[in-house]
Amino acid sequence: MTVTDLDMLEIALVGVGKIARDQHIPAIAANGAMRVAATVSRTGGIEGVENHASLPMLLHARPDISAVSLCMPPQARYVYAAEAILAGRHVMLEKPPGATVSEVLALKDLAAEKGVTLFATWHSRHAAGVAAAKAWLADKAIARVRIDWKEDVRHWHPGQDWIWEPGGLGVFDPGINALSILTEILPAPVRLTSADLTFPENRAQPIAADLRFAGADGLAVEAEFDWRQTGPQTWDITAETDAGTLRLSEGGAKLAIDDAPQRVAGLGEYPDLYRRFAELIAQGESDVDVAPLLHVADAFLTGRRLATEPFHD
Ligand code: NAP
Repeated sequence: MTVTDLDMLEIALVGVGKIARDQHIPAIAANGAMRVAATVSRTGGIEGVENHASLPMLLHARPDISAVSLCMPPQARYVYAAEAILAGRHVMLEKPPGATVSEVLALKDLAAEKGVTLFATWHSRHAAGVAAAKAWLADKAIARVRIDWKEDVRHWHPGQDWIWEPGGLGVFDPGINALSILTEILPAPVRLTSADLTFPENRAQPIAADLRFAGADGLAVEAEFDWRQTGPQTWDITAETDAGTLRLSEGGAKLAIDDAPQRVAGLGEYPDLYRRFAELIAQGESDVDVAPLLHVADAFLTGRRLATEPFHD
């Protein structure tokens, strides 16, 4: 079927930074049924694409743009999302979906009231091995899960001050990706039982987190998030079950059972996110799961605060 101009989903990208350039723009370009019709950028946007200095200006000037994808840091997301929803536009949120749980739930209610789609994305859930891992674990007795999410913040987030500010989540910015996979692949929910959070003396958000969770039938989950890892980077989840050991590595891209690599396939995380966004819009539905954010909130609620040396970029 050919997609005519009338069928094309016109999307506005808001906040043209690292993730918009690395992932959103190529993923939309690769999808034959949608295009970036405009941007909202305070610093210029994308060459050759109409840019607006503020979201209200775009919403006023372009009533034909039915969908808005928000790619700015989480602290600013609520105000933009509420404006777009109130203007009757479908909204896609980068992860984490907001700075607080209650603002995300309020957006969910607002979208339902206005009859538009709200998609709170968790890109790591769309990594190639995740669906197969979920299917394999569905009928297994899981005894232990171990998460190691260790990366070099200087490499991945150079100069990103927002990440160290309140609401920026610190090491939970990548760590919440692991929690988004965990909450997707486990057949039943777990609850946080302890958290040690390590804060650089000069920063408002943690550089490392050591978490424990408990689930049904004695399931124990331990997670170590650390932003001080140099050398090889680690984004691994291992689950020990009655039928063998499952290992998701490279952020969910690779799957092995008892060390035997499994064949997995997928569109790619961001192409699949945009496929799903279009599907939700067509079905008149929303997809807003706050489970990963709830675990982070619980860690901040109950966590023991440990101090470490100041962090400088
Ligand atoms: P970034 O490059 O530091 O910032 C993104 C853009 O957001 C900025 O370039 C700016 O765009 C806009 N912006 C910044 N502060 C703003 C504010 N206070 N109000 C309104 N707009 C603001 O960040 P990023 O790495 O792209 O991350 C953005 C989001 O994507 C985060 O939630 C992050 O967790 C998520 N994410 C990032 C990555 C990654 O690898 N970086 C991967 C997956 C998900 P303009 O200058 O165009 O206005």
